[in-house]
Amino acid sequence: MEKTITHHPDVATLMCCSAGSQPEACAAVIASHLAVCSQCRAEVRRMQKIGVALFDTLEPECLAAPPPIVSMRAAEADNPDKKEPCVISAGEIPQFLVSCVGPCLDKMSWDPVGRGVWTHAIALSPGACGDLRLLKVEPGAELPEHDHPGWELTLILRGSYTDELGTFRPGDVADLDAEVKHRPVACPKDGCICLMASEHKLSLFERVDHARSAGDR
Ligand SMILES: [Zn+2]
Repeated sequence: MEKTITHHPDVATLMCCSAGSQPEACAAVIASHLAVCSQCRAEVRRMQKIGVALFDTLEPECLAAPPPIVSMRAAEADNPDKKEPCVISAGEIPQFLVSCVGPCLDKMSWDPVGRGVWTHAIALSPGACGDLRLLKVEPGAELPEHDHPGWELTLILRGSYTDELGTFRPGDVADLDAEVKHRPVACPKDGCICLMASEHKLSLFERVDHARSAGDR
């Protein structure tokens, strides 16, 4: 997969990740990308080294807080001692999501959003801000054009989509800020399944999630 990756998270996003200051939903997408992208793993390691070096130059009285503890699961993917590295499994689902959604994209439950579009919301820790979900778009279908009230990070798990910014394939990350408006169209042959984190839940998912939680009661 790694050879096909052409879209990486912004440096600023990786920097937040190396400092461990990302919202949980955002960290989930970045960790999943880092698990399959050695280039970004190297970049995060480089930032961490710089962070440690800077920290070492500070006088003790300047230190209001302990050094940032980097807890990104994907940073552990390089650790040969770790028995279960965070990898996108053969079933395409990032390892740490398997306990939430199961091991197979074809066997999990999906809620219809609109024509040719389904979603599966992923619960975050209580109090965590943001929104995390899987999104499945059938071949050739498009999402309604939407802009973003905040940041949005999308990692492709299967198939691809194309929008004004290019074509995004498995392992690629679309790292969008609030100014971007786009209309993604899924690959006409394979469709697209992706993991999407956003600062605020898009309005098109409100009704679906509401129906699901009503059904769960
Ligand atoms: Zn990368």
